[in-house]
Amino acid sequence: MNVIEVSNLGKRYGKRWAIRDCSLSIPAGEVVALVGPNGAGKTTLLHCAVGLVEPSTGCAKVFGGLQAGSPEALARIAFVAQDAPLYKYLSVHAVIELTRNLNRSFDTNLVRERLDDLGIGLSQKVGKLSGGQQSQLALALALARHPDLLVLDEPLARLDPLARSEFMGVVMRAVAEEGLSVVLSSHVVSELERVASYLIVLNVGRVQIAGDIDSVTEDHVLLTGPIDEVDQVRESFDVVQILRGDRQARLLVRINGVADIGPLWESSSVSLEELILAYLRDPDSSAISSPMSGGSSQIREVRT
Ligand code: ATP
Repeated sequence: MNVIEVSNLGKRYGKRWAIRDCSLSIPAGEVVALVGPNGAGKTTLLHCAVGLVEPSTGCAKVFGGLQAGSPEALARIAFVAQDAPLYKYLSVHAVIELTRNLNRSFDTNLVRERLDDLGIGLSQKVGKLSGGQQSQLALALALARHPDLLVLDEPLARLDPLARSEFMGVVMRAVAEEGLSVVLSSHVVSELERVASYLIVLNVGRVQIAGDIDSVTEDHVLLTGPIDEVDQVRESFDVVQILRGDRQARLLVRINGVADIGPLWESSSVSLEELILAYLRDPDSSAISSPMSGGSSQIREVRT
């Protein structure tokens, strides 16, 4: 079952498209990293998927066919918005009660246990908690609904490395214990490899690449070889990025399962971070058209 399926999804604000032509099928049971720079459209895509925003084109379905935003879908999704917005002047206890009253099913004991583990007192004012504690509170409230899908918009951005690790520890424990699916958007590329199993890279409102992280990394290699052979490689592979030196070129290519690169090129594996950064380079800056059909239509070219 696909936990989220969007087809030809687009959202326009005035004349500007926040996201465009997005088609994705995300299998259930994954921890999905939705990565992109500021303004890439991550929040818009998540809002469409959870039904907070009406798309301008296409549609979003969840849990194998439920309309995004329908009561059946909403009952099974917990969404934590960017900056974990909470009522700052209420006590932790009051926020728990409020959330319990707003939700048909809510596990008060679970949220209290989690907060106890984290040393967050019920009488503390929410506004006096640290950023990390506020994020943990928002997460505990979301998990207390026992969602099938947990959607987290930029949960890590304002947390220090220790708080990030603790936050993701709670998420991963919930995944292990309850088998829920998770989608989290992030700028923090470096730590995703440890937690995510599925990757979506969004840039300028369009999906650049999406898939299981192991398959995506296995399907890309770094090639180093003679600069005058670059065109040869471009005839056979989708080239994502070219770094040109005086005599040598370094190419990030998508091999689409082909193992034989030829004797002139030295091949090495690519890290997830390198791969994401290559797809995140502004496709319109120094981009040249790919001669390949059906492949990556933009090549990011960098002169070293
Ligand atoms: P960030 O990482 O900075 O939060 P993002 O990837 O989540 O960015 P979005 O917030 O989805 O990106 O924004 C995508 C584009 O859509 C931006 O250009 C933004 O200005 C625009 N946009 C988003 N929401 C609105 C809105 N309500 N009205 C007008 N424009 C909007």
